[in-house]
Amino acid sequence: MIKVEKIFKSFGDLKVLKGIDLEVKKGEIVSIVGPSGAGKTTLLMIMGTLEKADSGKIYIDGNELSKLSEKRLSDFRNKNIGFVFQFHQLLPEFTALENVMIPALIGNTSYHDAQKRAMELLDMMRLRDRAEHKPAELSGGEKQRVAVARALINNPAVVFADEPSGSLDSDNKVELHRLFFELRNKLDQTFIIVTHDEHLASITDRTIHMIDGEIID
Ligand code: ATP
Repeated sequence: MIKVEKIFKSFGDLKVLKGIDLEVKKGEIVSIVGPSGAGKTTLLMIMGTLEKADSGKIYIDGNELSKLSEKRLSDFRNKNIGFVFQFHQLLPEFTALENVMIPALIGNTSYHDAQKRAMELLDMMRLRDRAEHKPAELSGGEKQRVAVARALINNPAVVFADEPSGSLDSDNKVELHRLFFELRNKLDQTFIIVTHDEHLASITDRTIHMIDGEIID
């Protein structure tokens, strides 16, 4: 369902990705590991359409992304791709519930439906009673779980996560990792996760090792 073919990317003279091929099936949880500077985040950003490759192709559910105009790509991204970053990036002036609803409202879901779906997701994240709180009133682990709920609101084909548990203590890490698997089991959700966390990498379905812009395993 996600297919990446011969992706190359350079920043100036620095060759960061040197012909990446990758396939990920629906419902798979894949980790991408490797030393700092290997190109993991760049690959994730390119697969997530937030960065452009110099060459190569990306297919998500059969759609070849380079064929879409900027406007259609932006709509496609909002509806089909979820992101979770190391730092939650919630909007501070909105409640947890509102933060989760925003991508659905941008995608023209009605307020009522967006609110209903957001509450279901907050419930799955064990955050029902925190829904009306603003990010400053939530713990680090709670904020990150709100960010995961927000990533899922439009039922994306895939969630890309960049060091999602990198800022969490060990209890919150384990809780977040457990939730990824629960979401996969309940929703058949696909996750592609860049991580330095050995525990997370050891429990994912598959680990992709990157070194110096190439997949080595
Ligand atoms: P880390 O584990 O430290 O996050 P990474 O494997 O995710 O590393 P990337 O963030 O993909 O590595 O960066 C790969 C290389 O590309 C690095 O040398 C980085 O400095 C460089 N790089 C990344 N983004 C840019 C950019 N926008 N402009 C110039 N160089 C960049």
